[in-house]
Amino acid sequence: MPNITTPARDLEVDLAICEAATPSPYTIEPCGCGHSACKYVFIRKITHSDGRLLPEDARFVAEAREGWPYAIRRALAAEAEVDRLRDEIRMLQEQLEQRCARA
Ligand SMILES: [Zn+2]
Repeated sequence: MPNITTPARDLEVDLAICEAATPSPYTIEPCGCGHSACKYVFIRKITHSDGRLLPEDARFVAEAREGWPYAIRRALAAEAEVDRLRDEIRMLQEQLEQRCARA
């Protein structure tokens, strides 16, 4: 899974970053500035009214930008491998049952 362009992430470190951040749930709230064209928002619970974040929450957001897709890709690869291994077990069980039926 990791290659030259995407170095391996340490998922234990990533989990510690998640656990150090403010606990969920987070909600997205409009900024409330009153401008009708404004598209900015705050993440309720971690963004203070002036836009500042605690360092733990900022690190969580910044690391999640690369860590979350990485973790999803690893999970998908692991699920594909489980499927492949299940198919292999099923095929071997069928071969074994056919041999036992012939004996
Ligand atoms: Zn606004």
